[in-house]
Amino acid sequence: MNLDAMWMPFSANESFKANPRIITAAQGMYFTDNTGRQILDASAGLWCVNAGHGNERIINAVTEQAKKLDYAPFFNMSHDIGFKAAERLVEMAPKGFDKVFFTNSGSESADTSLKIALAYHAARGETGRIKFIGREKGYHGVNFGGTSVGGIGFNRKAFNHLLPFVDHLRHTLDIERNGFTKGLPAYGAEWADELENRIFTLHDPKTIAAVIIEPMAGSAGVILPPQGYLQRIRDICTKHGILLIFDEVITGFGRTGGDWATNTMGVTPDILNCAKGITNGVVPMGAVLVGNGIYNTVVDAASEKTIEFAHGYTYSAHPLACAAMIATLDVYRDEGLFERAAQLSPVFEQAAHSLQGTPFVKDIRNIGLVAGVELETSSAGLGKRAGLVQQKCWEAGVLMRLTGETLAFSPPLIVNEAEIERIFSTLGQAITEVANQEAATV
Ligand code: PMP
Repeated sequence: MNLDAMWMPFSANESFKANPRIITAAQGMYFTDNTGRQILDASAGLWCVNAGHGNERIINAVTEQAKKLDYAPFFNMSHDIGFKAAERLVEMAPKGFDKVFFTNSGSESADTSLKIALAYHAARGETGRIKFIGREKGYHGVNFGGTSVGGIGFNRKAFNHLLPFVDHLRHTLDIERNGFTKGLPAYGAEWADELENRIFTLHDPKTIAAVIIEPMAGSAGVILPPQGYLQRIRDICTKHGILLIFDEVITGFGRTGGDWATNTMGVTPDILNCAKGITNGVVPMGAVLVGNGIYNTVVDAASEKTIEFAHGYTYSAHPLACAAMIATLDVYRDEGLFERAAQLSPVFEQAAHSLQGTPFVKDIRNIGLVAGVELETSSAGLGKRAGLVQQKCWEAGVLMRLTGETLAFSPPLIVNEAEIERIFSTLGQAITEVANQEAATV
């Protein structure tokens, strides 16, 4: 296989060639690689294949849709499956979300949500509200807005210049006080008050358009909000007329042990972004949800009545994605996958936390069917030790996500207890092997 032509995203393209990991097929909980090995998918692809790979109902729905209507444009027209998909998503959305703006990814959802926030304020005559506040370690995709409000330094640094008028709150990771917490950490709700402090010391509150937050920061290593933190952020935003955006690209569709983190954590944003699990990863799709209040404000104020919101993608509400979405939501409902995730989460939590005391394990964080196991950084550099552990797990037939020093687990919601046990025992063994190797070389 010629590996030269593809510039792989987020990868070490050249060193990859020495030891390529190449997937050729997937079914259920397993990938098959190009050597024919079965690999247990402990990350649901990239946190997206919540119903497992190769689900027949979803694939049939996409195939049938392709035969019927492959594509149709918008600009004052649309298609039946798009309206059906929107209605279906609104039905299962948290209360108060009435309208869906379709995108093709989490990154597009992030940028769309920021533009909706600007349009909303402008529509109300608050044209001075142009600033956004994100958080350190936040991830909102890779488009310009999302990268700017994102707070993973490494993702920003290569680009030299991003959007101005963006500030970041501190992240909520405090291993010293909250290490090895199961679920939401006890300490740190008061960090939310930094928002109020900053808007008084650094910004006039009337200059801030929106605060964007992942209820659970996945890409930076499964960082959970302290109990009460999100509510305090919500209250401060409400008090100052600032919109609150939740990026539920990972946390939506059953991941946190309920349908949405908005519901499992009991705090409702003004704008809700999603993607990934929306189509089970089968066809790219994202969505931004808002209530009628935001929608009506933007639409009513539009000066140009033939185009009320000058934003959209050629593939917004793509018919194949809509078909995949409807079938995916049917599968989640009919197979009771969100309930299953809730039922399995104590087993998952127990299995993850059984690694406390294993060499180098610095912290374990979890909620629902997602967990992060963070290792101590070795003298070889950030992520080197965790990278070795991940490689050993891959060799043992288990794939998880590696981010910094954290190994992140988010299996499809069809995972069973034996697979959960295998995932974490494989990790424990891999860490022990790396520890033994390090001891032998000292
Ligand atoms: N937001 C969050 C919270 C994410 O986790 C991701 C992807 N990991 C994105 C946005 C970007 O999504 P995509 O890669 O589909 O653009």
